[in-house]
Amino acid sequence: MKKQEYKVVILGSGPAGLTAALYASRANLEPLVVEGGGGGDPTDVPGGQLMLTTDVDNYPGFPEGILGPELMEKMRKQAARFGTELATGAVKQVELSSRPFTLSLEAGSIKAHTIIVASGAQARWLGLPEELEFRTKHGGVSACATCDGFFYKGKEVLVVGGGDTAMEEATFLTKFADKVTIVHRREDFRASKIMLEKARKNGKIVWLTDTVLEKYLGGAGKGVTGATTRNVKTGATAEIAADGVFMAIGHEPNTALFRGKLELDPNGYMLTKDGTTATSVPGVFAAGDVADHRYRQAVTAAGSGCMAAIDAERFLSH
Ligand code: NAP
Repeated sequence: MKKQEYKVVILGSGPAGLTAALYASRANLEPLVVEGGGGGDPTDVPGGQLMLTTDVDNYPGFPEGILGPELMEKMRKQAARFGTELATGAVKQVELSSRPFTLSLEAGSIKAHTIIVASGAQARWLGLPEELEFRTKHGGVSACATCDGFFYKGKEVLVVGGGDTAMEEATFLTKFADKVTIVHRREDFRASKIMLEKARKNGKIVWLTDTVLEKYLGGAGKGVTGATTRNVKTGATAEIAADGVFMAIGHEPNTALFRGKLELDPNGYMLTKDGTTATSVPGVFAAGDVADHRYRQAVTAAGSGCMAAIDAERFLSH
C-alpha cells in the first residue's frame, strides 16, 4: 500500500466495489480497493462473480453483450483512471470500535476513516466433478436464471433445490424452457407455501424429490447434456437429459470478518438503514450482494456501489 491511512477503503473489486471506487476517486477521496484472490481457490479471483461468467447480455451499454472478465477489466481501468489504488490479498481482521478503523491486511495494518464493504456473496455449488469446468468453460451449469434463462428457449433444464429461490428460478425459467425439472433432496420443501403453490400450478414444472445429482453429463463442445441422479431412499441411479442445470441451493455472503461487529440478518447478509448503504456502525457502508439477497445483479451491485461512495463522501464531510 502507498499510504498508512485512507479516507475510504473498499473491500471487494466486483461491480459494487469498483463503482464505489470510481465515484470515490472522482470525489478526490483517493480510495484503496482491497481485492481477494491468490488463496488457491480457483473461484476466489479479483473481480467477483462476473469473472466466472461468460456472456453478460444484461449489463446496460453493451448492445452486443460483453464477456464477464472483459466487463470487469473495463470497470477496473475506469476506477484506476481517477486514482484508485488496488491491493490484492485477504483482510485478516477489522477493528471497528473506534475511528479511524483499523484493518489488518497481509501486507500490514492500515487505518480507514470509512469502509465500504463490497465483498459479495457466493452461490453454493454441489461440488460435483468438473462442476467448475461446466460453469466456466463447457457451459450449461449456472446459479442465475435471470442471467442465463434466456439461452434456454424451447429447451429442458433442471433446477436443484427446494427453497424459495428454487421455486422462483424454476417459475421464471418456464418463460423460456419447455420443461423445468425441480430436483430436490427431500420430499418436503423449505419454500414458502405461496411460492411452492405457484410452482405446483405451473404445468411446465415437473418434480423429482428425494433425489440428488451425482454427475454432470456432456463436456467440452457439448456443454451439459444431462446428469446422473440418485434416489436417496432407494439408492437407484438414473440418467436425466437436460440442456442446462440451475443451482438454487442458497448463497453465502462474504461477511465472516464482520460477524459480531455489525448487524447481519439471520442468513449473514449485512443490514443497511432505510434505503441507504449505512450499516449499524457509522462510517461503514455495504454495497452489492453482501447486503442483497434479493436482486443479486451486476447492475444493481454497481448502483449500490455508487450509493455507498456518495454516502461515505457525505459522512466524511460532516
Ligand atoms: P434456502 O432457503 O437455504 O434453500 C436452499 C435449498 O437448497 C434447500 O431446499 C436445501 O435443501 C437445498 N440444498 C442446500 N444444500 C444442498 C446440497 N448440497 N444439495 C442439494 N440440495 C441442497 O435458500 P434460498 O432458496 O436461496 O433462500 C434464501 C433466503 O432468501 C430464504 O430466506 C428465502 O425465503 C429468501 N428468498 C425469498 C424470495 C422471495 O420472497 N421472493 C426469493 C428467494 C429467496 P433442504 O431443504 O433439504 O435443506
